[in-house]
Amino acid sequence: MMKIGFIGLGIMGKPMALNLIKAGFSLCVYDIVPSAVKILEDAGAEAAASPREVAENCELILTMLPNSPHVKEVLLGEAGVLEGIRPGTLIVDMSSIDPTASVEMEKEVAKRGGEMLDAPVSGGEPKAIDATLSFMCGGKPEAFERAKPILEKMGASVVLVGGIGSGNMAKLANQIMVACNIAAVSEALVLATKAGVDPESVYHAVRGGLAGSTVLDAKAPMMLSRNFAPGFRIELHIKDLTNAMNAAQAVAMELPVTTLVLGMMKRLQKEGKEKLDHSALVQYYEEIGNVEVRPL
Ligand code: NAD
Repeated sequence: MMKIGFIGLGIMGKPMALNLIKAGFSLCVYDIVPSAVKILEDAGAEAAASPREVAENCELILTMLPNSPHVKEVLLGEAGVLEGIRPGTLIVDMSSIDPTASVEMEKEVAKRGGEMLDAPVSGGEPKAIDATLSFMCGGKPEAFERAKPILEKMGASVVLVGGIGSGNMAKLANQIMVACNIAAVSEALVLATKAGVDPESVYHAVRGGLAGSTVLDAKAPMMLSRNFAPGFRIELHIKDLTNAMNAAQAVAMELPVTTLVLGMMKRLQKEGKEKLDHSALVQYYEEIGNVEVRPL
């Protein structure tokens, strides 16, 4: 069976790579953190000394890195993937990054005869472990068909959204909807609490109606039980909303609500709360309302 390259073995990349090994693929892996590489080596993967070495050994390379600068460094930097690829090599970047960076990098990959897809995911660590992630892909249909059977070993849904960058545009849309929904839930529950109405009863009263949502059911119980362990960290959501602002600027579009919510998250970051789950956005409202959301 073909060998797959995997670069970036963090919270998401580690379980995703382990699922590919479970599915019977041989892996050649790289990460700047040796302990992350060791876990995959122990599971049967081969370790490479650089992204270039991964590319020299594999026709399909997956990356799962924090943000655009990391992906640029791994692909275009010294001893990077582009130094080692052959015509026909397919790079699938699963990181959540700025879509304009995906477009720029695809041009460089194409100059070397390679192909590239952007394929960010939603679902977080639990779904990475269960292999039930949702992939949102951008790129050429033929490249998508090549990658799909492999992505299906890590996810329950693999959708081609459009050309290169459109996977990350879908991910930004997802992150805007989630952030603004959390802000709305926070605003509403803090108002009810401040007015002396039990926020837990409000939650149960509205969850079956139009205001009900996956975000409400995931985040309101965390707010009510004061459990802000991540989950999805505020600092990562700041990264995604900042990428959304950049993408909006590129097409001369304003994002008024996202701008406000990003400001709230940055204020929490200034207070040292950036490692908390994004449901801690409720604390922004609690500070201005001088009240804490708890069942009465
Ligand atoms: P992470 O920080 O846990 O992992 C990133 C890994 O990349 C680390 O192991 C790091 O050492 C490695 N890395 C960084 N720079 C590198 C370089 N130059 N060369 C090689 N390796 C390098 O992050 P994560 O939570 O796994 O997230 C990865 C991506 O997935 C992010 O874009 C994130 O927004 C996205 N994402 C995360 C979640 C989540 O819940 N954690 C959910 C959906 C999407």
